[in-house]
Amino acid sequence: MKKISIVIPAYNEGGNVALVHEKIKEVFSGLKNYDFEIIFVNDGSRDDTQQKLEDLSKQFEEVKFIEFSRNFGHQPAVKAGMDNAHGNAVISMDGDLQHPPELIPQMIKKWEEGYDVVFTIRTYPKQISWFKRKTSDFFYKILSSLSDVNLTKGGGSDFRLMDANVVQVMRDFKEDDLFLRGLTSWMGFKQTGIDFVAAERMAGQSSYNIRKMLTFAFTGITAFSVKPLYIAAYLGFLFSGLSVLGYVGYVIYAFAVHTEISGWASLIMTIVFFGGLQLIIMGIIGIYLGKIFKQVKERPNYIIKNKNF
Ligand code: UDP
Ligand code: MG
Repeated sequence: MKKISIVIPAYNEGGNVALVHEKIKEVFSGLKNYDFEIIFVNDGSRDDTQQKLEDLSKQFEEVKFIEFSRNFGHQPAVKAGMDNAHGNAVISMDGDLQHPPELIPQMIKKWEEGYDVVFTIRTYPKQISWFKRKTSDFFYKILSSLSDVNLTKGGGSDFRLMDANVVQVMRDFKEDDLFLRGLTSWMGFKQTGIDFVAAERMAGQSSYNIRKMLTFAFTGITAFSVKPLYIAAYLGFLFSGLSVLGYVGYVIYAFAVHTEISGWASLIMTIVFFGGLQLIIMGIIGIYLGKIFKQVKERPNYIIKNKNF
């Protein structure tokens, strides 16, 4: 019998874990030929998630948990689950039922047809705010154009099935800044996608705010490409070229009209503009430098405090 491992990162999901387990169990009761395990990764929750997980794992042998020593973030949590999964395929999904478990049979079917990775493409329900929808679309547009991985629009959900072989390859990655959806896309193999409508969060609150989303965006872009550095260089060339042209123009003007151009305001604006531009570019270089700094230390992506398997 083939085994499917379900990996679920959980940060303050005390109100959801039991229900998530129930739903998944229900789905697998219709999939007689498959064994399954659910690996919850408690990412340093501050609520009763850990207690709930321990109770649940005592009742049901398919429930396993990994407890982190502190909050390491969503991506490391998913990675930890994958690193410890034993299934022939691993499915990662959120712990708030925004990723419908009803899709699992379809994903498994695609896998059986020979696909190594079955990703999901999120389409939005009406309730999701215009802002989140737009920022998310914008993010993927920018990301795809800036980076060297091709990310389908809305492909940014971490609801995904991966064959054990693919998971095995990913285990050896020593990347500090994890961006799993990009990594999966980058890895190749035989991939296919399924559309789904993201449901509303069951209980609790989304822990992604604007600041986190921005950080995530920067991580995504800078983890996959050095194009921003090239853009910085191109901008440098562009403005140097323009300034030479401008200079020639002013000299000709000054000789022709016999007056020099005055303009304190334009001068100041130019200085401020280029001051800003230089800071942005230094910032971009700084981000890459910071990544190198973090990477060379080779700290682990996460620290496991406790697990029950
Ligand atoms: N999550 C996590 N660590 C974090 C933040 C979130 O493990 O620091 C988990 C969370 O429990 C959920 C998933 O990642 O299972 C997605 O988080 P959330 O629902 O807050 O994000 P959203 O769906 O709003 O993008
Ligand atoms: Mg959510």
